[in-house]
Amino acid sequence: MKLHEYQSKQLFAKFGIPIPRGRVAATAHEAKQIAEELGGRVVIKSQVLVGGRGKAGGIRLAKTPEEAESLATQILMMEIKGLPVRKVLVDEAANINKEIYLGITNDRSLRMPVMMASSAGGVDIEEVARVSPEKIIRESIHPLLGLRDYQARDIAVGIDLAREHWKVFGQIANGLWKAYQSADATLAEINPLVITAENKLLAVDGKMVLDDNALFRHSDLNEMRDLDVEAESEIEARKYGLSFIKLDGNIGCMVNGAGLAMTSMDIIKLFGGEPANFLDIGGGANAEKVAAALRIILSDRNVKAVLFNVFGGITRGDEVARGILTALKEVKTKVPMVIRLVGTNAEEGRRILADAHMITAETLAEAAQKAVNVAKGA
Ligand code: GDP
Ligand code: MN
Repeated sequence: MKLHEYQSKQLFAKFGIPIPRGRVAATAHEAKQIAEELGGRVVIKSQVLVGGRGKAGGIRLAKTPEEAESLATQILMMEIKGLPVRKVLVDEAANINKEIYLGITNDRSLRMPVMMASSAGGVDIEEVARVSPEKIIRESIHPLLGLRDYQARDIAVGIDLAREHWKVFGQIANGLWKAYQSADATLAEINPLVITAENKLLAVDGKMVLDDNALFRHSDLNEMRDLDVEAESEIEARKYGLSFIKLDGNIGCMVNGAGLAMTSMDIIKLFGGEPANFLDIGGGANAEKVAAALRIILSDRNVKAVLFNVFGGITRGDEVARGILTALKEVKTKVPMVIRLVGTNAEEGRRILADAHMITAETLAEAAQKAVNVAKGA
């Protein structure tokens, strides 16, 4: 689960990280009032759960409350990467001299969290990571020992931070670690952590991703979930116990097993296609679940083909086939379906589907190629 910037920064503040004064608003009128309270220049920031808001025009500086109101009006009408903006954060504008990147995530190969920092922070950090990875300093954090003071100092030295900032930087790094650890996060990020014209450190942006599997022990954080901005299909999928993640491509994927689902997506890409989703219908999926999954996949108008890849073990091929037919009775569609079915009762399943004029395939490679071709309209 992703937290909004304003939620992340509230959490950061609890752990002693300096953040700008500001509040969130749902209307332009409120934004104006907040700007008046803050008395001066403010920054109007779209609250959507994607990165790159600045480049998309979703972060704007306002010199007066009137300007704050008109910018908020504009931003509240925007859609950023397909997500509607429903709230803006109105923060006191910072006078920025320098932008630093500071973040923590899990390093799976080391099996430890890793803190990363760069003196080249800001909106181009992905580019920095790609082109000059040596500009990113890393310190792995032992989960039982926590972030050690010397590690925070090493990072400060590594990013050429002036001596006078080390102490506060150490507090910020430690606060970020505490926020990350206590929330069971998989990402905690300040980008940018700025040095202001007044020579103060300030967390201007914040981002946190929480581990869904640990949310049961964080009822306070779970309440921050913003259903408004989650893709409707993902909310619907959760109701049926389906693991579903919406993506931008045009080939819908219906697969049983997370690993097989990943593999199917890889192979679609290998043959030049783009998956429209990740979907694991789970073991033992019955007709009802398959029907729900198909409805969810087809609710995405980008979908030009659906690839079924079902490896029957506990899941029975004939059940899956019947689920597909049930779903197709409800959801009238012309989207072509390519089906690869192997394992338990696969032959029976294939017979049911062949009678219904579906495209079948023996191997995953063949199925993926066929799906890519029909999606291209071949
Ligand atoms: P992101 O694009 O979604 O990462 O949003 P950010 O909150 O990081 O804002 C993008 C960029 O806008 C930052 O890197 C800053 O350069 C700029 N920005 C954000 N807040 C302020 C502010 O208070 N004052 C100034 N001058 N620039 C800001
Ligand atoms: Mn940012």
